[in-house]
Amino acid sequence: MTGCIGKEKIDAFRKLLGNARKVALAAHVHPDGDALGCVTALALYLKRELGKEVVCLFPDPLPESLEFAKNPSLRYLTGTTEEADLIILMDCNSFSRTDVLGDSLAASRAPKVLIDHHLNPAQDSFSLVFSTPDISSASEFTFWILKALGWDLKDRETGEALLTGMTTDTNNFANSVFPSTFTMASELIAAGVDRDALLQKIYFSYRENRVRLMGYMQNEALTILPEGAAYMILTKEIQRRFDLREGESEGLVNVPLSIREVRLSLLLKEYEDHFRVSLRSKKGTSAQQCALKFFNGGGHENAAGGRLYPAVDLGGKSLEEYVKHALLESL
Ligand code: 5GP
Ligand code: MN
Repeated sequence: MTGCIGKEKIDAFRKLLGNARKVALAAHVHPDGDALGCVTALALYLKRELGKEVVCLFPDPLPESLEFAKNPSLRYLTGTTEEADLIILMDCNSFSRTDVLGDSLAASRAPKVLIDHHLNPAQDSFSLVFSTPDISSASEFTFWILKALGWDLKDRETGEALLTGMTTDTNNFANSVFPSTFTMASELIAAGVDRDALLQKIYFSYRENRVRLMGYMQNEALTILPEGAAYMILTKEIQRRFDLREGESEGLVNVPLSIREVRLSLLLKEYEDHFRVSLRSKKGTSAQQCALKFFNGGGHENAAGGRLYPAVDLGGKSLEEYVKHALLESL
C-alpha cells in the first residue's frame, strides 16, 4: 500500500499545496461516509495545519444520517463549485462521478489531484494521482498521505473523520480490510479517537422507520434465485409508505448475502426517471462486472453500483426480466 504513496508523490503534493492559497475538495454524487470522511479530514488538515482556505464540494445533499460527520468549522457547498487554486478529487476515479460539478471542475485551470481507491483512475485529468484498489477506503488512503505529510494525529476531529470514513466503507471491518487498515484504526484509537462514540452515531442512531422498512423488504420484496443471486426492488411507493429519507436504505443490499447460497445481491431504488443500483458479492463473483455490463456503473470487485434507465436500458424486457438476466449472467 505505502508503495503507491512514495516520497516523490508526497513532495509533489507538498509543492502543489505550497502554491495554493485556496483549495477545493470534491467527492462523488450520492456522498457516503467515506466521501464525507476523507474530504472533511483533509480539509481540516489543510485549514488547521497549513492555514489554507478550504471549501468542500458535494454534487448533492448528504443523507441526514451522515450530518453528524460534518465538521462545523468547515464550509460545505452542495451542487455548486467555487474558484480555487488547487482541486482535490476524492473517493471517485473521475470528474464524471461528480455529476453536476464535473464539467466545471474539469474545466478549471487549477492543478488537480486525485486521491482514490477505485479501479481505472482518469490519469489524464490530474497533475498528481494517488490511486490504489489495495486499500480499504479513500479515508484510509488519506490517513497514510497525511502521515507522510507529517501529520502527528493530534487533531482528534481529523482522526474521527478518517475513522468514520473507513468504518462505513468497510461496513465496520467486514470487507476490503487490509493489515494497514487495522494499523490505521489502532493508531487513531491510541491517539484518542472514541470508536464507541462513532459506532453509536453511525449504526445506532437510525429512525424506527428504517428498521421497519428493512423488515418489510426482507419479508415482502426479496426474490432469491436458486442459482445464487437475490434482488429487492425499493419502489417509490414503498419509500413513501415508510417515509424513507435519503440514506435510510443503506446496508439493506448486504442482508441477502448472509444466506449461504447467495453470492450476488442487488437492490434497485426507484427515483424519478431511473433506478439507483447497489450490488454486493462474495469473493469469486464480481459485483463490479455486473454493474459495468448491465447498470451503467462500476465500483469495487465486491461492492458496486450504477443506474438503470428503464426507458432506454431494458431492450424490450420487463424490469424483473432484465434484473434476473443481469444477475444470472454475472454469476
Ligand atoms: P452503493 O451501493 O453503496 O451506493 O455503492 C457501492 C460502491 O459502488 C460505491 O462505493 C462506488 O464505488 C460504486 N458505485 C455506486 N454507484 C456508482 C455509479 O453510478 N458509477 C460507478 N462507477 N460506481 C458506482
Ligand atoms: Mn470509498
